[in-house]
Amino acid sequence: MKDYYKILQIDKSASSSEIKNSYKRLAMKYHPDRNQGDKNSELKFKEINEAYSVLGDESKKYEYDNGKESFFEEDENFNEGFDFFKDIFDFGDKEEDFNFRLEITLEESQMGGRKFVKVPISRECPSCEGSTREKGTSLKRCNICDGNGFIRSKKNFMNIQFTCENCKGEGFYNPSICKVCHGEGHLLQEEEVCVKLSAPIFEGEEIFVKTKGGQKVNFIVRLKEHSFFKREGLNLFCDIKIFFVDMIVGKEFDLKLLNKTLKIKIPRCSNPDKNFVLKRLGLKSKTKTGDIFVKFIPTFPKVISNKQINILKKFSKY
Ligand SMILES: [Zn+2]
Ligand SMILES: [Zn+2]
Repeated sequence: MKDYYKILQIDKSASSSEIKNSYKRLAMKYHPDRNQGDKNSELKFKEINEAYSVLGDESKKYEYDNGKESFFEEDENFNEGFDFFKDIFDFGDKEEDFNFRLEITLEESQMGGRKFVKVPISRECPSCEGSTREKGTSLKRCNICDGNGFIRSKKNFMNIQFTCENCKGEGFYNPSICKVCHGEGHLLQEEEVCVKLSAPIFEGEEIFVKTKGGQKVNFIVRLKEHSFFKREGLNLFCDIKIFFVDMIVGKEFDLKLLNKTLKIKIPRCSNPDKNFVLKRLGLKSKTKTGDIFVKFIPTFPKVISNKQINILKKFSKY
């Protein structure tokens, strides 16, 4: 039997909200949309969903905890009808905000701006108005459990109580599921929202946006890696390749920063083991400013003439 607790990275004493949170976190991480084509993530994602379909359901969890192995292995419909966004963003808790990650560049972190982002937003189904039933129909009493929601059976002198599979423990069922929302009561629709970034803005900061339909959406900022600068706190680090002769005789050149271009001068006789510090030109937070550390990497010619060799030999005799 698979260890669903291990798969969801929780221990047996985890509360239902801990189970839910851990599932949410892992499902986000391994969701196929975020790991395109990665077979391992896909398998992990399936496994996580299988584990949650059991541990997230109280009656199934009870049976799993009490070793009802066969029940789970015979049930092949674990992932049927699985809807990522529904399960991630809507746990039946209407008050819960929609959370998304928003990746921004270092430039955006420093200069701000606007970003237009498409997000899936849950809306009440216009056809059934959230009831999950076709118009003009009503719920029917479950004839499998006689409206009790559970079934009792005797096994080895023990009374066992199962949740009724037909009505999922509700005691009644929906005989005419809404064809528009497939019984969800709501629909997911992509909506474009405008996110205003007010600089400076950093990793982990949250931005709240209201959609046209009044839904509150929460974006959590992630800083993208920069193609040229490495970041450590507010300090930026970069390597610049310089022809070895220029490192000896000095040279002026343009350095493109995040929001401007700066003329910098590499001093004569620069050693490659020394960092060149551009004070207070790093990232700005609301209270502090970092530095930029430039490392010059000497480059050498691929071929060299005899004449050049003689000059260098003379040079080394000084
Ligand atoms: Zn509907
Ligand atoms: Zn029933």
